Amino acid sequence: MNVTEKLLKSHQIDETLFVEARNGHHLAEAQYQALKRQIEALLASKNAVIVAHYYTDPQLQRLAEETGGFVSDSLQMARFGKEHPATTLMVVGVRFMGETAKILTPHKRVLMPTLEATCSLDISCPIDPFSAFCDAHPDHTVVVYANTSAAVKARADWVATSSMALELIEHLNAEGQKILWAPDKHLGSYLAEQSGADMLLWDGACIVHEEFKAQGIRDLKHVYPDAAVLAHPESPKTVLDLADLVGSTTQIIEAARRLPNDTFIVATDRGLIYKLEQLAPGKRFLEAPTGGRGATCHSCAHCPWMAMNHLENLLVSLRDECNEIELDAELCRQAMVPLERMLAFSKSLPPR
Ligand code: SF4
Repeated sequence: MNVTEKLLKSHQIDETLFVEARNGHHLAEAQYQALKRQIEALLASKNAVIVAHYYTDPQLQRLAEETGGFVSDSLQMARFGKEHPATTLMVVGVRFMGETAKILTPHKRVLMPTLEATCSLDISCPIDPFSAFCDAHPDHTVVVYANTSAAVKARADWVATSSMALELIEHLNAEGQKILWAPDKHLGSYLAEQSGADMLLWDGACIVHEEFKAQGIRDLKHVYPDAAVLAHPESPKTVLDLADLVGSTTQIIEAARRLPNDTFIVATDRGLIYKLEQLAPGKRFLEAPTGGRGATCHSCAHCPWMAMNHLENLLVSLRDECNEIELDAELCRQAMVPLERMLAFSKSLPPR
């Protein structure tokens, strides 16, 4: 039983979320323009800015860009929210992203279109068992992925995102440290394999990336033999073994621009394709298959929680100043330490 099936079975995930994700919320252009005008006025009156993730609906990404906001990966979102002068951040993504913004800028108001948008990695790593796991291995440096709760971050020595995790693990390994990694087991295995580090892994997975199928990619490669495969490291090893590039969303975009191929098979959330088409015009991007032999296809390459964000609930949250992220001040203070370490470490890295 994979992680998706386990989560569904234990009723931690409502199946209707997956229907929600597949339906989408795409609006006609006239409706989009009408909502955009209202949102623009609210952003100005409340000194607010939109910070959105690549996996959100293309109309939300477009709105963020057209209103002076920002669209990126979770590391750059954290940095942008911290450095931007706006006093209210409208974080469009999933809950851990809003919490990260609040931890790094406790003096700012952080709103989200919905507080129900979570992440299977966050769900799979509750603080009490995670803390017990850390306590059982006191000789290990605790590194957690950004996709975790504030409480889990507060228990960690380091926070990492996929764009800098390999460099961080290599750095800690070079210092002779043993590492406890949570929650993504696929990313953890990839990091251990690439770095040779001694790593203990938590048993979590992303329900979107875990669905990609190596056989489906091989079949697609028969049809498009010149296509390059770009894979996010939350994907299973069988998928990563077929990839021409394994990297974060930002690294996938850079590779699509840099590589000479005209066609790419993309093993990450299909929300990224909006940005890929924008930044690598004239190239073709195919979603990596989640169907085929052995498939359950709960996610169909789109995160059901990212899909809970749409223009209407963003407008309501901004207008009514609801869905605010509120965190205990002491928890924020503790979680800020490994997050600040992450930002400082990533800043010290040469561009990849
Ligand atoms: S795509 Fe996966 S890792 Fe990202 S928020 Fe959704 S469940 Fe979490």
